[in-house]
Amino acid sequence: AKNAGRGRYAIFGSEMDAMLQVRRDIERDLRLALQRTDQLEVYFQPLFRASTQTIIGVEALLRWRHPTNGWISPDVFIPIAEETGMIEAIGEFVLRSSCEAARAWPELCIAINVSAIELRNPVFAVKVAARLLEFGFDPHRLELELTESALTDASGVCDQNLRALRELGVRVALDDFGTGFSSLGRLQKLEVDRIKIDRSFINGFGRSNGDEAIVEAIVELARARGLKTTAEGVETAEQGDHLQAIGCDDLQGFLYSRPVPAKDISALMHRAHDL
Ligand code: C2E
Ligand code: CA
Ligand code: CA
Ligand code: CA
Repeated sequence: AKNAGRGRYAIFGSEMDAMLQVRRDIERDLRLALQRTDQLEVYFQPLFRASTQTIIGVEALLRWRHPTNGWISPDVFIPIAEETGMIEAIGEFVLRSSCEAARAWPELCIAINVSAIELRNPVFAVKVAARLLEFGFDPHRLELELTESALTDASGVCDQNLRALRELGVRVALDDFGTGFSSLGRLQKLEVDRIKIDRSFINGFGRSNGDEAIVEAIVELARARGLKTTAEGVETAEQGDHLQAIGCDDLQGFLYSRPVPAKDISALMHRAHDL
């Protein structure tokens, strides 16, 4: 038994080494990608207004095409970027690329994901404001998507950044709602304008696990608090119809469109009229 135990440790140890090596490789290659930027591209996924079935905005989603390993998911490289300080440069690249692309769609809002790490920088709001000014981008067209960890910052820096940006007209959305410890009751104290209902709830529709009732309660409470709602991960017409019926404001998911390169958004806007 002792030998077997030692063997397991040996395997575990080598797996750990392999994992750490992969992380180090990703960190090194991401640093290079940030210097070149031809491997990084911001894609955009349309956001649909349920009541009018039109595109009202897009969410910016970063894509990394590694020269030898192909596409690497942001779920893999964003956490590494957060731990190694590269997230600031990534955030700046995404904001700049989005402002540039947004020139072609003056009628659309742009939603950008912001890491809690970025928001803890005392000059975050100033940097964003300077960039908007540089591009002549109306702050009312910008929405920042944050997860709860950014809103439970004890130092108060995140709150100060959010308050300064909201004074300029920038809106704030609470991303992945329902996955953290956010309670519905806490919502009114948060500096947010919108909640994005996590796609795991939409995914559970039709499985008699109560997800419809939860989503309905979230939508009603948000409305009572004057907050907008977006449902993420809408994949079927049934899900879309149900969300529209219960009064969810905006819809996002593969049913409407996958994230696409900036050049494809205009065509989608024209096609949307026929949906
Ligand atoms: P998120 O902010 O929750 O973004 C939504 C994710 O759901 C995206 O994955 C999108 O492609 C995916 N999605 C959209 N519709 C559907 C659907 O109908 N079904 C399914 N199964 N998935 C759908 P993606 O692009 O892989 O991004 C993953 C996460 O990485 C994002 O989750 C966000 O947390 C982070 N991320 C992406 N881009 C950035 C960025 O520029 N900055 C930061 N800080 N984080 C980013
Ligand atoms: Ca998001
Ligand atoms: Ca989300
Ligand atoms: Ca997510």
